[in-house]
Amino acid sequence: MHKRLFIPGPVEVSKDVLEAMATPMIGHRSPEFSELYNRVIPKVKKILYTDQHVFLASSSATGMMEGSIRNLVKGRVLVACNGAFSDRWHEIAVNCGKEADQLKVDWGRAITADMVDEALSTGKYDAFTFTHNETSTGVMSPLEEVAEVLKKYPDVSFLIDAVSCMAGVKIEVDRLGIDCVLAGTQKAWGMPPGLTVFTVSEKAMEKAKTVEGKGSYFNFELFLKYHEKGQTPNTPAISLIFALDHQCDKMLAEGLDRRFARHLEMAARCRAWAKERGFKLFAEENYESVTLTCVENTRGIDVNALNDFLATKGVVISNGYGKRLKGKTFRIAHMGDCTLGELEEVLGYIDEFLNK
Ligand SMILES: *Cc1c(COP(=O)(O)O)cnc(C)c1O
Repeated sequence: MHKRLFIPGPVEVSKDVLEAMATPMIGHRSPEFSELYNRVIPKVKKILYTDQHVFLASSSATGMMEGSIRNLVKGRVLVACNGAFSDRWHEIAVNCGKEADQLKVDWGRAITADMVDEALSTGKYDAFTFTHNETSTGVMSPLEEVAEVLKKYPDVSFLIDAVSCMAGVKIEVDRLGIDCVLAGTQKAWGMPPGLTVFTVSEKAMEKAKTVEGKGSYFNFELFLKYHEKGQTPNTPAISLIFALDHQCDKMLAEGLDRRFARHLEMAARCRAWAKERGFKLFAEENYESVTLTCVENTRGIDVNALNDFLATKGVVISNGYGKRLKGKTFRIAHMGDCTLGELEEVLGYIDEFLNK
């Protein structure tokens, strides 16, 4: 039996999205492909509130985390670290041979505007990476406020990992002055994995032209060159682009504000449920994620036994992240095409388990 996914990636994918992926194949240098590409990019631009560059990379999000570092770090990068995925960005920067410092807080805490301001005021950095939604801890750091700080530092490129929240929360790329924001499609986009959506500001594109050692696969200049022909630099995940085109239509039909409100409503419900049952939330108050809830296992339940029980109901949630949080937390994702009704259903099953 298929277990419906309530884990923070990959998420459950609707049947109509899977069907869109079964569209007969086309050549990636054909006019049909350019038509598809030129149709989908403007829709993504609407969803991300940008008139600047939007590109599609055929890789998981980590590929473009590396790409953004290679294109936009010239000197030294400051990496905001408050969990496993933000730590990964630091490791990537180091492995790319870049000078990288961590702006580190404990897991469960948010990266705030004041911390960023203090660190950037040293003048040591030409790039800053920010993980908007730390999926390992269920913390959503305050993008609007941090973006306000970055406006004081126009020479610092502003890179954002929005992997587990893009298309689930409003990210106004141009208004916020974001230089590069990226996300894989297997989370709040509600699609299978394998494609990464990312933006590049005009300013960042100009900078990338002056950076050495960008490599080939994730080279922004190549993405731009092919974009002008309605293509990608290499053979893309065409099936996923068909799915993205379909998914964008669905999102725009639902209405972006309604979509974001649906995510907020599910988050509020999940947090209230956890507290009513005597659990705590792992995230610092006021910085809880909108797309997943990381529940602190204060009741000491057996999370594996919970998932075994949920499997008999045909659903699955996520244990805590890695050695550090396994058993101590569990995570319920509520993003993508997930509805409040579906979330209620899962919470009902968890209640059944708790009351056994
Ligand atoms: C899932 C996730 C990633 C990694 O994405 P991949 O597509 O597996 O490479 C990076 N950052 C965050 C915040 C994530 O949730």
